[in-house]
Amino acid sequence: MTDADIDAAVEGAHIPSLLVAIAHLTGNADHLRDFDRPVYEFFGDGQGNLPPEQQARARSLAAEEMRAHRDRGAKLPPRPPEAAIRACMDFIAGADIPEPYVPFLTEELALDGPEARELRVAIDAPAAAKADFPVVVIGAGMSGLLMGLSLVQAGLPFTIVEANADVGGTWLANQYPGVRVDTPNHLYSYSFADDHAWPKLYSTGDVLHGYFAKVADSHGLREHIRFNTRVEAATWDAAASVWRVRLSSGETLTARAVVSAVGQLNVPKYPELPGVGDFAGPAFHSARWDHGVNLTGKRVAVIGTGASAFQFVPEIAGDVGHLSVFQRTPPWLGPTPDYHDAVPAATQWLIDHVPFYANWWRFWLFWMLTDGILGAVTRDAEWSGEGAISAVNDELRQALTGYIASQVEDRPDLLSKLIPAYPPGAKRMLRDNGVWIGALKRPNVDLIDEPVARIVPEGVELASGRVVGADVLIYGTGFHASDFLVPMTVTGEGGRDLHATWDGDARAYLGMTMPGFPNFFTIYGPNTNIVVNGSIIFFSECSVTYILGALKLLIEADAKAMTPKQDVHDAFNTRVDAANAEMAWGSPGVSSWYKSKSGRVSQNWPFALVDYWNATRAPDPADFELR
Ligand code: NAP
Repeated sequence: MTDADIDAAVEGAHIPSLLVAIAHLTGNADHLRDFDRPVYEFFGDGQGNLPPEQQARARSLAAEEMRAHRDRGAKLPPRPPEAAIRACMDFIAGADIPEPYVPFLTEELALDGPEARELRVAIDAPAAAKADFPVVVIGAGMSGLLMGLSLVQAGLPFTIVEANADVGGTWLANQYPGVRVDTPNHLYSYSFADDHAWPKLYSTGDVLHGYFAKVADSHGLREHIRFNTRVEAATWDAAASVWRVRLSSGETLTARAVVSAVGQLNVPKYPELPGVGDFAGPAFHSARWDHGVNLTGKRVAVIGTGASAFQFVPEIAGDVGHLSVFQRTPPWLGPTPDYHDAVPAATQWLIDHVPFYANWWRFWLFWMLTDGILGAVTRDAEWSGEGAISAVNDELRQALTGYIASQVEDRPDLLSKLIPAYPPGAKRMLRDNGVWIGALKRPNVDLIDEPVARIVPEGVELASGRVVGADVLIYGTGFHASDFLVPMTVTGEGGRDLHATWDGDARAYLGMTMPGFPNFFTIYGPNTNIVVNGSIIFFSECSVTYILGALKLLIEADAKAMTPKQDVHDAFNTRVDAANAEMAWGSPGVSSWYKSKSGRVSQNWPFALVDYWNATRAPDPADFELR
């Protein structure tokens, strides 16, 4: 830590994180009284609008304390008192954090170190009882690995069945050009295994795959995984109180519990258009990208303008001869100028050298993407304006409309095609740094918003009868998100079939358990997707904690089976449906992958993150029938 290092680092610091991290160097938060509390704006720079004079003062104070810390031999004073930590939380959030959030955020802040965040649920039972409780986990993606490593910690035998040849799930399957995460990476990481060495603020798919592979290796998970194997059917054997899990290899595993971690976005969806399959040239889905097909100089047609197409279109636009992008509904774009940026050197230096800077920065990312934004996507019954669901949602709409308009001042013909008619938040908003519209403005790119009638051997036929010729066809048409757990067959008590029970409208209690399907759990199951707030890894961590708590209940009570009570399950789903109807994504008339065929929102969690955290600390035995 030379003085020059320190000075360079504070220049590039996130000022609110820097200011609160000082508390750990001094042992108190008294200095915060000398600064205005940050005030954040929609899509601001995140520095909290502190006046330049205060920012300069913050930097010099931090530099001074860092030098003093170094000169003391880098010994930290005792941890600041709880009141000081609380003052830091309120300061960095720019708000008095409501009391119910404090325990939840305190855990997220992890001042006791990453070990304390590990998902340990100790099961108090003799080794023989644990050995007699084999678990099958389906899928070795982000959630399945998490389940696996917590089963290692709990000391239960388990097998993970993985259809692919490697771990990583979505980050293995999606290898289209430009694939990357759209949640800040210092948040999109396990709470206990953030190696803080992300090269980019939003990493590309290969880096994410490497991260999950590293977690699998460092926790010895690969030896538990059956690769290249599918679960075809899981059947509850009531006489033996076990699941019989039939694999594509022909083998049948016996398990006391089954945990599905297959996610919501793993089965590619091709459009329901006549002629799909008739195209004469190469055709593939974004999640099955055919890297053997050379696009250079070709006429390429892309169907869809969702999150996947949004990422690969700018990557291929410069190589192809001509690109026709078929859009049914435009996406809202969230301004993110640093979306493709490397982690700045100053940020990395501060993460590496300043105690707790990383924790606070993650905390800030967490808070900014947490429940604060829910208000902007919640319906106001009094509101009657078009294209928005409340005054604040309309304010967001105006800001986002202005943002899109600013990018097409030179191409006014594109403006009406690019402004969504639906309220912000009704579909996934996409992080944008300008490359999408930049690609659409290229002379070799057409954005076609006339409806597609059918696919024909020579290209794409429009409703008008015009055929747009193409050499290669790429489907960016998403996934069968609401068809949870297809194509597996799951048969529960009394021979009841899970898909028949759901009848196209998947429901679960807290997204994890279903009446009639004992000891069967789903991670990222029905109604656990989040649209605007937070990282899905957080949700998986909550689910795994809860599921492990359920296994603990079963084993410690020496019970054979647990299923949620039907009335508990139904009441929960009634609450979920009522709340989803109040959210932007519940807007009638807006189609999205968040809804089932019946139009019910079967994917999304409509409540606050803190509500899921509270609900999943441990299962309440009163919610279950334990036998
Ligand atoms: P998607 O959001 O479901 O988008 C599918 C696109 O295909 C939509 O534009 C849809 O139009 C269009 N489409 C479907 N059928 C069509 C038809 N017959 N004619 C014309 N257009 C048609 O799928 P996705 O882009 O793969 O993304 C799915 C989700 O995966 C995302 O929302 C996100 O959660 C996740 N994802 C995340 C990232 C990331 O983090 N960076 C990247 C990719 C995906 P309509 O809108 O009109 O239905």
